[in-house]
Amino acid sequence: MSKTRDLVKKIVSDNDIKGKIEFNFNLSKMSWFGVAGNAEIFYSPESLSELALFLKLLPTDINRTIIGLGSNLLVRDGGIEGVTIKLGKNFNNINVESNYVHVGASVLDKVLSKFCLEQSIQGFEFLTGIPGCIGGAVAMNAGCYGSEIKDIFLSAKCLDYQGNEIVIDHSEDLFSYRNNTKTKDLIILEIKFNKLSGDKNKIFNKMEEINKNRILSQPQKVRTAGSTFKNPTSQSSKKAWELIEISGSKTIERNNVTLSDKHANFIVNKQFESANDIETFGELIRKKVFDKTGVLLEWEIKILGAYE
Ligand SMILES: Cc1cc2nc3c(=O)[nH]c(=O)nc-3n(C[C@H](O)[C@H](O)[C@H](O)COP(=O)(O)OP(=O)(O)OC[C@H]3O[C@@H](n4cnc5c(N)ncnc54)[C@H](O)[C@@H]3O)c2cc1C
Repeated sequence: MSKTRDLVKKIVSDNDIKGKIEFNFNLSKMSWFGVAGNAEIFYSPESLSELALFLKLLPTDINRTIIGLGSNLLVRDGGIEGVTIKLGKNFNNINVESNYVHVGASVLDKVLSKFCLEQSIQGFEFLTGIPGCIGGAVAMNAGCYGSEIKDIFLSAKCLDYQGNEIVIDHSEDLFSYRNNTKTKDLIILEIKFNKLSGDKNKIFNKMEEINKNRILSQPQKVRTAGSTFKNPTSQSSKKAWELIEISGSKTIERNNVTLSDKHANFIVNKQFESANDIETFGELIRKKVFDKTGVLLEWEIKILGAYE
């Protein structure tokens, strides 16, 4: 039995930790690709105070990883060392004040956008089609159809990996394209958003339009993690999907991993054997794009864990 495992078992029994703890826990069901390595230790905390205590007691040399709904994750076959944390149902509150909406990190994007529709709050329509939870959306500055998290974000209550509470306020340099510059080693717990009242019909119509566009332009009911690569930020460059099409990679298939015929920047995984095969396939596409166009695409999907 590993030393880390023994240490965690002792922390759990000495401190009456009630959250879910699993050892060597397979993460396939927590990744939208449907295949993933194991978490050495998986922890879903019962409450904020329990999580803070657990992190304070956990030796600093034990690796911590936070995951959301896994809709943007590739967990390599070798798995994630240390503790992998996922916030569950005790972090899914939504509270409305006169000027703010407070949202727990594990609230689904879709649920929040529906809630805001019911309350006639505008600005959250774009979340209707993003399949993650709001903590993941803030960590990724998720966005689509001209809107992104940065447009509505005010602040986030977080824990650092030692269990200390930290508040991150909106600032000019906080968000960039599919990136949050300050939350890399933080656990986002609750987010404060701007509340702007709007016309319910307009909000509804916008959501309908977004959902219709998605059905037309993105694969449905397949195992994918959304856009594989970021669009290059240079004004002159083509989008990632265009570069992939130009490179002639669109019809390539390796070990039952392929690209969507609806959207060339979406990898579709059709096998259950290996997450590494998905990364290898992605690297092949990157090379083909580079060889043909000179552009080295950057992964948007977050790749976690060890290869073997
Ligand atoms: C079909 C499909 C369509 C998609 N369309 C879009 C789109 O239009 N726009 C878009 O932006 N994305 C899109 N995505 C990608 C993905 O849904 C988003 O990036 C989403 O915000 C990820 O949220 P998640 O909860 O699944 O996070 P995960 O995939 O679990 O994690 C993503 C990153 O966020 C971090 N993270 C998660 N939770 C927390 C937390 N509480 N605190 C700190 N860090 C955290 C993780 O460490 C990781 O680095 C799509 C994905 C799919 C499968």
